[in-house]
Amino acid sequence: MTTTTAAAPTNWAGNVVFSAAELARPASLGELRETVAGAGPVRVLGSGHSFNTIADPGPDGVLLSLDALPAEVEVDTAARTVRVGGGVRYARLAREVHARGLALPNMASLPHISVAGSVATGTHGSGAANGPLASAVREVDLVTSDGSLIRIGRDDARFGGVVTSLGALGVVTSLTLDLEPAFGIEQRVFTELPLEGLDFTAVAECAYSVSLFTSWRRPVFEQVWVKHRTGDGPLDFGWAPAADGPVHPVPGMPAANCTEQLGVPGPWHERLPHFRAEFTPSSGDEIQSEYLLPRSRALEALHALAAIREAVAPVLQISEVRTVAGDEQWLSPSYGRDSVALHFTWVDDTAAVLPVIARVEEALAPFDPRPHWGKVFTVPGPVLRERYERHADFAALADELDPRRAFRNAFVRDFLGD
Ligand SMILES: Cc1cc2nc3c(=O)[nH]c(=O)nc-3n(C[C@H](O)[C@H](O)[C@H](O)COP(=O)(O)OP(=O)(O)OC[C@H]3O[C@@H](n4cnc5c(N)ncnc54)[C@H](O)[C@@H]3O)c2cc1C
Repeated sequence: MTTTTAAAPTNWAGNVVFSAAELARPASLGELRETVAGAGPVRVLGSGHSFNTIADPGPDGVLLSLDALPAEVEVDTAARTVRVGGGVRYARLAREVHARGLALPNMASLPHISVAGSVATGTHGSGAANGPLASAVREVDLVTSDGSLIRIGRDDARFGGVVTSLGALGVVTSLTLDLEPAFGIEQRVFTELPLEGLDFTAVAECAYSVSLFTSWRRPVFEQVWVKHRTGDGPLDFGWAPAADGPVHPVPGMPAANCTEQLGVPGPWHERLPHFRAEFTPSSGDEIQSEYLLPRSRALEALHALAAIREAVAPVLQISEVRTVAGDEQWLSPSYGRDSVALHFTWVDDTAAVLPVIARVEEALAPFDPRPHWGKVFTVPGPVLRERYERHADFAALADELDPRRAFRNAFVRDFLGD
């Protein structure tokens, strides 16, 4: 039976209190379809790891949790695909896939996030040749606002709009993802890589997945995390010395929460995320922002940030620089361009952080940055629209699948301009 509570949950970080009147938990697909067909404004809450109001349906709306539905993970070993329920998180998915000798191509920094919520916002890991997590999706099952269940696959002209869809098209009840044979990763951390003289392309391309971390207290990357595929030949990292023990990217945090380092080989799902599935990576005392821009402009953008680092550093816990291969989802921040992703983990003080976010956006504006949909940004809707050449196609698709605009919350309206 669908249970409904009046409790107003917050997001994981606690910086957003949802204004929705109700939280509904349908216990079957039938109940879900009924709930959606009868609901006014409605939005799904995934694992709640976004830092903004993207999931909030507004005060008259219903927030829908899928955690009472069966958490299906069905691996097809022969076809190398997996069908995963709309509420399943990466940690569980990865374990099941690995147990069958298969792998996902990439993962985000933590495995605690839901698959559907992650691909809806363009979540990504790192790697010059790795697209965002949505790139692995081949098919989407969606309950639309009239309660119908539809399936849209890669051969459908609408596919470019349905994976990274900001939750604006309906309830994703399951996703089918491509898999590949399981692989191993050796993770090493290098320290004290100066920005001055950095060969960004060479560093970013030296291994399967590379992340550079700086506190911006100095123009130096205090840590570079290198995830090298076992069997890819020797790792050649001549730019900076290796760390002499395990580390956490945020100064002062325990390395025990992090995935194994020092080059110890291990399975893909225990090395690609920075944080171990069995630990909560932090208490949530943080706010995050991130901007994706053309990779060819990475060094210029990093120098633009270095020029304002005295404003940034006092409210910053850590900044991470990653690469994401261009993809074809219309609303993906890496749509159509190989990107560099400039991420900021701020202190948990919205009033102090917001003006600095505005400074960062001003510094990055010349590089046509697209903010991460799940993080905090202040770029207004009209400016954002200009940065997405397919936004009109997405608006048309949203009108086709959700003509009564039940899934259109303030966040989406601001972007679509209605
Ligand atoms: C500690 C931490 C680390 C992070 N690391 C990374 C990282 O490495 N890389 C990165 O790119 N991002 C990262 N993020 C951001 C995070 O991946 C995104 O915010 C992502 O959307 C979280 O997924 P979620 O399920 O928690 O989404 P939620 O915040 O719950 O929802 C996000 C959106 O998806 C929609 N949605 C969720 N489920 C469904 C569904 N079944 N059907 C329809 N719509 C749905 C919601 O309505 C909402 O619009 C991190 C966040 C945190 C807190």
